[in-house]
Amino acid sequence: MATEAADRVTMDKIVALCKRRGFIFQSSEIYGGLASTYDYGHYGVLLKTNVKSQWWRSMIQERDDIVALDAAILMHPRVWEASGHLDGFTDPLVQCLGECKRRWREDHLREQQPEGELRCPECGGELTEPRQFNLMFKTHMGPVEEESAVVYLRPETAQGIFVNFKNVLQFSRKKPPFGIAQVGKSFRNEITPGNFIFRTREFEQMEMEFFVPPDQAGHWHEYWLDERMRWYTSLGLRTDHLRLRPHAADELSHYSSATSDIEYLFPIGWSELEGIANRGDFDLTQHARSSGEKLEYVDSATGGRYVPHVIEPAAGADRAMLAFMVDAYDEEQVEGRERVVLRLHPKLAPVKVAVLPLVSKDGQPEVAREIYEELRERMPAEYDAGGSIGKRYRRQDEIGTPWGVTVDHQTLEDRTVTLRDRDSLEQDRIPMDELGAELERRLAAPWRSPKLSA
Ligand code: ATP
Repeated sequence: MATEAADRVTMDKIVALCKRRGFIFQSSEIYGGLASTYDYGHYGVLLKTNVKSQWWRSMIQERDDIVALDAAILMHPRVWEASGHLDGFTDPLVQCLGECKRRWREDHLREQQPEGELRCPECGGELTEPRQFNLMFKTHMGPVEEESAVVYLRPETAQGIFVNFKNVLQFSRKKPPFGIAQVGKSFRNEITPGNFIFRTREFEQMEMEFFVPPDQAGHWHEYWLDERMRWYTSLGLRTDHLRLRPHAADELSHYSSATSDIEYLFPIGWSELEGIANRGDFDLTQHARSSGEKLEYVDSATGGRYVPHVIEPAAGADRAMLAFMVDAYDEEQVEGRERVVLRLHPKLAPVKVAVLPLVSKDGQPEVAREIYEELRERMPAEYDAGGSIGKRYRRQDEIGTPWGVTVDHQTLEDRTVTLRDRDSLEQDRIPMDELGAELERRLAAPWRSPKLSA
C-alpha cells in the first residue's frame, strides 16, 4: 500500500520541482516556449543518463546474448514504406466544429466517452469525422526541396535495428535467440502531446529486438514481460503502482500479433510505460521483400534456414524517468517543517553523496574539500559550502541525494564525520578513512522504496 504522502504527488509538483532544481526546463523559454518540448538541465541529464545506463547494464553487461547498435536518425525513405509507417503509422484525428476548434485523438476520446456520439471535451462542440493523420515528421535532404529529397525523422528506433540485421549477424557471431539493443531519439508529430515529458514530439527510446526461432516466440514474449517488470521493480518502482495490460485485438499495431503494455499509475492514471510486442517475422520479411536482400538465419551445421521472429521490449527513457520521479516524490513533516524528498533508488540518484562543511571557517571547508576529492573518484559526489546547513540539506533532498556527509569541529579533532541517510534521517558518526568503503557498501546493498509500507 502506498502511504498517504505518496498520494500527494501531482504532475504540477513534479514540474515545479524539475524547474526549481534544474532537472527540466521549457524549451526556448525566453521566446515563450515551444509547446511540449523540453530541455534537460544538469540533474535531469544525470538522472536520465542513469536510467539509460541501467537499461544498458541489464541488456549488455548482465548477459551475453544481446549486442549494441547506434543507427542514424535519418534513414532511406524506402525503410518507412517497407515497414508500413508511411501508410499505417497514423492516429485518428478529429477536430472541434464548435468554438474552440481544438484537435483530438478519437481513440483517446472514445476511452473517456465510451457511449454515444463524441463531443469536444473542451467546449462540448460537435466533432468532424475522424481522418487518419500520419505522425512522421517530414524534412528534406540537401539544398533542393523536391519530392525525391524527402526524408523522415525516425518515429521509432526499431527499424534501424531491422535494416542492420544482416550486418550484425555477420559480425557478432550470434545465433537466435539473440538481441540487438539501441537507445536514441525518436520523433512523432503527436496530435495531443502533453502531461509534461509523458508525451512529447521528440523523445528518447530504449528498444531491443530479440530474434528467436519462430516456434519459441511465445516463450520469449512471456520471458521479456517478466524480465522488464523485474527491471522496474529492481530500480525501486513500487509493485502496487505497476501492472501488465495485454492489448485487445483491435488495439494491436499493424506489425504485432500480441502486445502487452507495462503500465504505471501516474498522477494522470494508469498509463503505458513500455510496450512489449511479438512482431512475428513482419519486419524482416518486409525489408527482405523490399530491398531484395535475404534477411534470414542459416544454420551452418544443418543448412536449415528461417526468418527469425522478433520480440520487442520498447521503453521510453523520458517516460521512465518521469515514473521514477513520480514514484520517488515524497513530502513529510520534520521538526515542524515540510520536507520534500525524492526517494530515488541510489543507483538512479544524480548525486550519490554531498559533502558539507558545517561552517565556512576553522579549516572545515578544506577538510570537506579533501573528503570530496577522494569520494568523487568512487562515485558522483557534490561539494556544497554555501548557505545554512538546513538549506543545503533541503536542496540535496529534493535532487534525491541518498547520503550527506557533514564535517564539523569534531572532524578536525578526531577525523570522524557525520553520515546522514536521506530516507531514515539517521546520522552515524564514522571515521573519515572508512567513508568511501562504507558508501560503496551502501550503494551496492539491496534497496526498497520507503514509500512501500512494511
Ligand atoms: P501511445 O499509444 O501512448 O501513443 P505507443 O504504444 O505508440 O504509445 P510505442 O510505439 O510502443 O508507443 O513506443 C514505445 C515507448 O516509447 C512507449 O511505451 C513510451 O515509453 C515511449 N514513447 C512513445 N511515444 C512517446 C512520446 N510521444 N513521448 C514520450 N515517450 C514516448
